[in-house]
Amino acid sequence: MTVGTGIDLHAHSNASDGTDTPAELVRAAADAGLVVVALTDHDTTAGWATAAAARPTGLTLIRGAEISCRWHGAQPAVSLHLLGYLFDPTYPPLADELDRVRAARTVRGERIVDLLRADGVDITWDEVLGYAAGGTVGRPHIAQALIRAGLVASTDEAFRPQWLGQRYRLPKDDLDVFTAVRLVQEAGGVTVFAHPLANRRGRTVPDSMIVELAAAGLTGLEVDHVDHDPAERAHGRRLADDLGLVATGSSDYHGSHKTVGLGANTTSVAGYEQLIAKAHGVPPL
Ligand code: AMP
Ligand code: FE
Ligand code: FE
Ligand code: ZN
Repeated sequence: MTVGTGIDLHAHSNASDGTDTPAELVRAAADAGLVVVALTDHDTTAGWATAAAARPTGLTLIRGAEISCRWHGAQPAVSLHLLGYLFDPTYPPLADELDRVRAARTVRGERIVDLLRADGVDITWDEVLGYAAGGTVGRPHIAQALIRAGLVASTDEAFRPQWLGQRYRLPKDDLDVFTAVRLVQEAGGVTVFAHPLANRRGRTVPDSMIVELAAAGLTGLEVDHVDHDPAERAHGRRLADDLGLVATGSSDYHGSHKTVGLGANTTSVAGYEQLIAKAHGVPPL
């Protein structure tokens, strides 16, 4: 639950791999005592309209997305997530890239299911598409099928190396992270590097890359996140201070796909105001 400000800048609906509908998400945000919530589904803005229509009075909705990106400065390249906020969703160069990434996720999801089926796992692609409910397909939807088949007990277990974490993991299409920062900026939005120091999720980038990204127009670093330990948070805060970046905090809520609750981490009012002051693609609602 919210301690302090009640500003949560990272949450997923079933427009991607969350389990709440966008309407349920905004209602849950208000019920959790939040005053601001950002809807940041993976590679899509499809939930924006229904979230906006259902927004309770007194809750500010920040429309955003979490963009699948890659940094090519290391070998092999490092996958990472970039939060984009308040950008014009119709700006063609960005919308086209998100379309491409979503289409590739569908192909990849079906391939993962094929690999599992080839090993005798009794799940189907139709079933997975049903769990995705028309939203961006992700491994959590395949995890749901594995749970239904009785092979794992939780999403977390489905992400172990012998399942979707490694053995049945296929790469995703994504955007070069510098291109993504530029496109969101051109679309009038601002960007925050999501969980940049979360070693437990996979390889992370060196600080020197974050310095370059700041110079290229990045606005913030997500510092307070469930996947950052206290040392990583302290380091992230220092880095943000040094580079003039906004340090944000957010839950990365995914409904029942993850255990974290809305408002588990929050952003300061000052940080929030700095962030939205730079954006002009679409307004906060
Ligand atoms: P994908 O987007 O298909 O590559 O799947 C990654 C998504 O799976 C992330 O956005 C998280 O929502 C979720 N995820 C990743 N690792 C885990 C984990 N260990 N336990 C539960 N969910 C996870
Ligand atoms: Fe996710
Ligand atoms: Fe993420
Ligand atoms: Zn997320």
